[in-house]
Amino acid sequence: MEAKPWLDLYPDTIPTTLDYKRKPVQSYLTEAAENYPEKAAVHFMGKEITFKEVYECALRMGNYLRDIGIKKGDRVAIMLPNCPQSVISYYGVLYAGGIVVQTNPLYTERELEYQMKDSAAEVIIGLDLLYPRISKIMKNTQLKHIIVTAIKDYLPFPKNIVYPFIQKRQSGIVVNVKHEGNQHLFKKIMSAGKVAPLENEFDFEKDLALLQYTGGTTGYPKGVMLTHKNLISNATACDAWLYKARKGEEKILGVLPFFHVYGMTTVLILAVMQGYKMILLPKFDVETTLKTIHKLRPTIFPGAPTIYIGLLNSPNIDKYDLTSIKSCLSGSAPLPYEIQQKFEKITGGKLVEGYGLTESSPVTHANFLWEENRVKGSIGVPWPDTESIILSAETGEAALPGEIGEIAVKGPQIMQGYWNRAEDTAATFKDGWLLTGDMGYMDKDGFFYIVDRKKDIIIAGGYNIYPREIEDVLYEHPAIQEMVVAGVPDPYRGETVKAYIVLKEGMTATEQELDEYARKYLAAYKVPRVYEFRTELPKTAVGKILRRALVDEERSKRKDD
Ligand code: AMP
Repeated sequence: MEAKPWLDLYPDTIPTTLDYKRKPVQSYLTEAAENYPEKAAVHFMGKEITFKEVYECALRMGNYLRDIGIKKGDRVAIMLPNCPQSVISYYGVLYAGGIVVQTNPLYTERELEYQMKDSAAEVIIGLDLLYPRISKIMKNTQLKHIIVTAIKDYLPFPKNIVYPFIQKRQSGIVVNVKHEGNQHLFKKIMSAGKVAPLENEFDFEKDLALLQYTGGTTGYPKGVMLTHKNLISNATACDAWLYKARKGEEKILGVLPFFHVYGMTTVLILAVMQGYKMILLPKFDVETTLKTIHKLRPTIFPGAPTIYIGLLNSPNIDKYDLTSIKSCLSGSAPLPYEIQQKFEKITGGKLVEGYGLTESSPVTHANFLWEENRVKGSIGVPWPDTESIILSAETGEAALPGEIGEIAVKGPQIMQGYWNRAEDTAATFKDGWLLTGDMGYMDKDGFFYIVDRKKDIIIAGGYNIYPREIEDVLYEHPAIQEMVVAGVPDPYRGETVKAYIVLKEGMTATEQELDEYARKYLAAYKVPRVYEFRTELPKTAVGKILRRALVDEERSKRKDD
């Protein structure tokens, strides 16, 4: 293991090594049902479902999947927003011995078809509203069965089962699901399925629990193979990191989608592991999130910078009591320092930055939750049992403190590789280190800093420009709510710096004012040459701004000219 100089400075850190129970992910639900049978596991739109009910429902799903032919290692897709069915389905697939393939409900037909073909999933569990999209692609894929559910089906034992037709009117869409042998109703499975325990042969190190697709924003999507060990080690570390969290007592706000591994590990697995209540929101909306915090008083709230920024910018924030919040982890994009400060002041809780990627289940680094002496701008130190180095571009070896290079990581949470893509897998590892594709450096105390994604570096007139540096400056401008900087094609400089800006409600700033502001803090070659004001920016499901989509937009605009 490499040196951990921060240990001397912060002796009361989380342990550097942990004991992981060598059990499958779903065994935590079995235990929670024994330990907290009557405790609410899920809160969804005013209804609560106990651990025992979730466990029984998941077994019903698991047995049903077995009955329709799912065997150990078969892939089952879940295309649901956060709701009780997504919890039940996830654990149900694992009880059956299957591998979960998480699918974004916003996927277009084309994206869905690609993912289903690539993963060769045989069953998909999806919302009735998605049925038209799913049914169109079924014949071109390996999908044999579709299990349909409606958001209103969330109660475990519904009285009025409408079978074999569902007719639901929502936003003018009529969905007609006809029972044709390979279409199944979630509701029916929940009312008639078997609750018999399910056992599988099990290998902690090797058995896959999840194929998590990633790379959609930067390349073609690839299935990241994550084992039970990968997910359990990350959730266990998250628990160790959560200072003073009380087993069986906390409430986690589940606004990060479970179809991304960040929400899955820090909410869906952690909550079941520790007997916490999950308060689920099917999508992020500022007012609903504020109201939910006020009313249901969650204590743990993992999120992304855009989520915290969105809440802080609500004109109504003062109307809500947010003081239940104690611990927040921000990941997926840089967390501006002022946002951290402001959010902590309003809630009285802690908000700290962590870092990770899908390929690492996802967390690899984080700051200490309780430390008052904050290291500004750092993503923190490597998590338990995790090693990290900076690879020098010059020597290909570990860089010295302060030198910028690619961040590389090793640890129990690192993926087995990309599904059926040996070449991509080989290119992502070097001597056992996962290459993150992020450029950064480590300071002398062993704290890590992200400079930027390797692919996002702008090369303008021969200069290397890191968008993050420009964003950090502009984020401090009082009129700016959200922004992103991208390198767009330029006939003279190769690329040039463009800033996409969303102003705060009721505030104004002209291009000239922003230019003068940027020039005060940045060398001339870094100052954005083009500004575009927008009302919103494109984002991923976890709220990361899609810089790539803006660059693609710009390129296609130029092609059309
Ligand atoms: P994903 O695989 O979708 O979770 O995206 C992972 C990527 O998100 C990383 O490779 C980083 O580029 C970025 N990321 C995650 N956490 C942070 C952070 N704290 N600061 C900056 N970038 C981050």
